[in-house]
Amino acid sequence: MSITADLHSDLTWTDGQAGYTGIEATPEWADEVHRLAKARNATILAHNYQLPAIQDIADHTGDSLALSRIAAEADADEIIFCGVHFMAETAKILSPDKRVMIPDARAGCSLADSITADDLRAWKAEFPDAVVVSYVNTTAEVKGLTDICCTSSNAVDVVASIDPDRDVLFLPDQFLGAHVKRVTGRDNIHIWAGECHVHAGINGDELADQASSHPDADLFIHPECGCATSALYLAGEGAVPEEKVKILSTGGMLDAARETKASQVLVATEIGMLHQLRKAAPDVDFQPVNGRASCPYMKMITPAALLRCLVTGQDEVDVDLDVAAKARASVEKMISIGNPGSGE
Ligand code: SF4
Repeated sequence: MSITADLHSDLTWTDGQAGYTGIEATPEWADEVHRLAKARNATILAHNYQLPAIQDIADHTGDSLALSRIAAEADADEIIFCGVHFMAETAKILSPDKRVMIPDARAGCSLADSITADDLRAWKAEFPDAVVVSYVNTTAEVKGLTDICCTSSNAVDVVASIDPDRDVLFLPDQFLGAHVKRVTGRDNIHIWAGECHVHAGINGDELADQASSHPDADLFIHPECGCATSALYLAGEGAVPEEKVKILSTGGMLDAARETKASQVLVATEIGMLHQLRKAAPDVDFQPVNGRASCPYMKMITPAALLRCLVTGQDEVDVDLDVAAKARASVEKMISIGNPGSGE
């Protein structure tokens, strides 16, 4: 049978405004996905914020940086990255010889989109001697203009490693920036006013209400959440016992889930994370601080989009070689400074 015939599928999808639809995550779909992935020699990676069906069918699930490193090491011709566009770009930056695809290239990110390469060039011109530190939620072009990348796990270590006399430009997440500024006590850190609309929607009032109505629950908080500052403030005021509040990356949340002694945990991040937490610790009751914190971009990677990607080989993600080399240098610098653990 020819390769084209191998990649034929009887399941059909529809392209709509909200993305590709028309296919349910049935056992027949799962069989097709496995068959097509094998025919392409493709590895399927899924971010923690993906739909449960996508997480369950992937070869590996995790945060963006861990998945990019898995992509680089995978013994496969193709990487199918179920996540948002900048994540697939990062996988391509670390795996330049592999074909990298995202099931729907329209899956963007409001945080990565909050700063363009031109914005950063203009900001750098204002502070020509500053060191640029970028969170991994940035486009390849922005990473190419960055000195050191960081994740939520190592942002503090990265900034602390920089000469205290040099200005730091920290981007794009203002809440992560505020967290880093508070912990390092640095005054010469300039923070870009970007935010993720999903994380920013989890606010301190909601957290305080939830914490007081579930007094025995642990609180897992992702530093990109708008509620992180309030959570620390509440802990300091005694409104929430300090030992209950855990500021964690998504990877750190999974470790903490396995170790917690609490029977209930309130989780402040995108709700897709609950699926992995519940799998990691089935006896613990995980509840979202904000049940509406669902990223519409992540949810564009539907069962239909994944099948279309496997059949058509689209959408391929490419990064200019020069940009990729510069971006790779900023990611590798981060890895040389401290354990990046995990990003979003
Ligand atoms: S949850 Fe926010 S930061 Fe993450 S991909 Fe969606 S928009 Fe971007």
